Amino acid sequence: MKIKFLDLKTQYNSIKSEIDDAIADVISDSSFIGGDKLEHFNNNFANYLGVKHALGVANGTDAITISLKALGLKEGDEVIVPANSFIATSEAVTAAGYSIVFADCLQDYYTIDPDDLERKITQRTKVIIPVHLYGQPAQMDKIMKIAKANNLLVLEDCAQAHGATINSIKVGTIGDIATFSFYPGKNLGAYGDGGAIVTNNEEYFKMSKMYANHGRIKKYDHEFEGVNSRLDTIQAAILDVKLKYLTNWNKARLGVARKYSELLGSIENITLPSEYEGTVPVYHLYVIRVEKRDELMIFLKDKGIDTGIHYPIGLPFLAAYSRFNASREDYPVTFNNQNKLLSLPIYPEMTDEMAEYVAEKIREFYGI
Ligand SMILES: *Cc1c(COP(=O)(O)O)cnc(C)c1O
Repeated sequence: MKIKFLDLKTQYNSIKSEIDDAIADVISDSSFIGGDKLEHFNNNFANYLGVKHALGVANGTDAITISLKALGLKEGDEVIVPANSFIATSEAVTAAGYSIVFADCLQDYYTIDPDDLERKITQRTKVIIPVHLYGQPAQMDKIMKIAKANNLLVLEDCAQAHGATINSIKVGTIGDIATFSFYPGKNLGAYGDGGAIVTNNEEYFKMSKMYANHGRIKKYDHEFEGVNSRLDTIQAAILDVKLKYLTNWNKARLGVARKYSELLGSIENITLPSEYEGTVPVYHLYVIRVEKRDELMIFLKDKGIDTGIHYPIGLPFLAAYSRFNASREDYPVTFNNQNKLLSLPIYPEMTDEMAEYVAEKIREFYGI
């Protein structure tokens, strides 16, 4: 059996006519930038999350940079980000003109460690960026408490967690502002790049909108220099179709995750994903912690199963951040997990038989 890491084609085929019609509509309108269809998606996405405002932008990385700009920090202010994430989270901090401070991650949940986060707070700290990594909500109860006590703002990076909930509340509605990516492989993916900023705060929304649009509200009335970061109307039309399916797709991912956990639960060498109290994750990734990770990966590849590593090098240990001189003792959890984490294939269209095949081959590898 051949099992791809993700399968966008099967998903497209399941909604082909609706998608093709949505694209054809935009082209026949020839309203490629802005317009009703973009507004429609922005509103539907905001309603889906239960937040006042959503603003489509060019990608998830821009969404973080623009949100940070909208929060109105001063140059050199510090922003705390988790040591295990995709580089976009930290890169955006630099792009916005602020200073990155890394905090280690939790061993069982992989999201930012609230205790280490608290230790990293200084006079210059202004923002915390929890990442709802792999679709697992970060420990927002603790993070919001720390933020309040220290007068910090919270930007949720929800790039991997469209629809994940904490006590039935969707992530992206808990902090001051939040960002999403619509990169094709994300739980809600466009057919190209896309991203969004969401917030209940009028001022942050207005500033984000202006910054993403050359610092203006009206055509040539630029109040400051911004950037050009737009969600294409074709992408918005595609996302609007896909948004209707997101709840079911997330449920299907959860089903695959439950199946994996049931089948792999008894294997000693494997630590399964943990779910934090009150949360319903959306399993953008199903990440296990294993011994002999690299051998297992090659073994599975040989059996036709694609897997991934998220992430092979923790952010502080990347060449891009050599200036921090990070040592393994600084971020022990992130460092130790680098050689142990393995992401198994997961997507809504995966069948029980496929998950069973993956589990069977993993058992075979460990001789069980
Ligand atoms: C994908 C991703 C981003 C960036 O999204 P792009 O749309 O690719 O720019 C940011 N943060 C995390 C955690 C991501 O996984």
